[in-house]
Amino acid sequence: MDEAPVIPTIQPESTNVHVMLAQLRTALNAMPMGVVISDPHGSEWWRNRTAHDLLGAGDGVIVATVDRAMVSATRGNTLTETVESSSIPVRSFSVRGVPTFDGGGLVIIEDQTDRVLTDRVRTDFVANISHELKTPLGAMSVLAETIAADQTDGDVARLSGRLVQEASRLAAVVDDLLELSRIEFGGEALTAPVNLREVVTEAAERIQGAAESKRIQIRVAEPSSNVIVAGDKRQLLSAINNLLDNAIKYSDVGRAVSITLHSEVDDGVICVKDEGVGIPKDDIPRIFERFYRVDPARNRETGGTGLGLAIVNHVVNNHRGTITVESELGHGSKFCLKLPLWSSGR
Ligand code: ADP
Repeated sequence: MDEAPVIPTIQPESTNVHVMLAQLRTALNAMPMGVVISDPHGSEWWRNRTAHDLLGAGDGVIVATVDRAMVSATRGNTLTETVESSSIPVRSFSVRGVPTFDGGGLVIIEDQTDRVLTDRVRTDFVANISHELKTPLGAMSVLAETIAADQTDGDVARLSGRLVQEASRLAAVVDDLLELSRIEFGGEALTAPVNLREVVTEAAERIQGAAESKRIQIRVAEPSSNVIVAGDKRQLLSAINNLLDNAIKYSDVGRAVSITLHSEVDDGVICVKDEGVGIPKDDIPRIFERFYRVDPARNRETGGTGLGLAIVNHVVNNHRGTITVESELGHGSKFCLKLPLWSSGR
């Protein structure tokens, strides 16, 4: 097992204290991230070389974000913001304010341009290729359905039926990949008030057909007053739809699925609960990864794409919310999304 590194404490009476401080300063100056330290009154005390170069360039947006993070840190709060420079070429930074033990603040500025660019290239590539696949795939589905219809030869009917099934599975994967790339960089436009009661009602209506085909009753419990969050209704509908879809997929015929909505102090909370197969404890941390399946064989039968919970995760992150999962094998699962209320986020 890895042991935690031992960090030496500086003894004030030690004659080495100046040497150690000089070494720490050299180390901080050699770091690629900017570091700014202030006293409890918010007056800057020290900045490393990277911060000096970055802030010295005079980009107002970055300077203002660092100031905001420092004010928050000296008030005892940790704050992380992602910001883009106003200068060309545009660079992306993560700015994090952390309170220090003496009531002062520490701000760390990290250049994330390369990571953001790589992510964007990957997402664009997936979106483009998915888009290109959609048209031939649609044509293949129609052709397969045409062959399957009016087929009297047993073997041809069986094989063309499989073709229709596989084409629709592939179409579902392509649709989910497109949805995922749409929401992956959709975090900035989440400014409209969204009524979660409408989201819950619409999602429950949409899933009704699939529920009926398994004789599953969807129970909806909502408060009498509206629950409003700042966000994107389409994304939220997609997240709840994926949770309901899973609840039905992983439940036996005739079981119940419930969707509930309530508000807590600063959050709206939506929970989807089923009485299905449940998820092994060890798999829970991984189910939000793309294409991760607990039981790939079962998945082939249920027709999942392995992307549903990755979509849910992105939507929740975009809304600065959190997800919790409770599950017991053979007894069912409960997924709850906590989303900041409109008023608290303004
Ligand atoms: P899929 O399309 O395979 O359902 P998801 O990303 O939605 O992909 O879910 C990932 C995996 O998590 C699923 O393959 C399944 O094993 C498990 N899972 C998700 N939701 C549930 C649920 N309500 N009950 C049991 N297992 C679930």
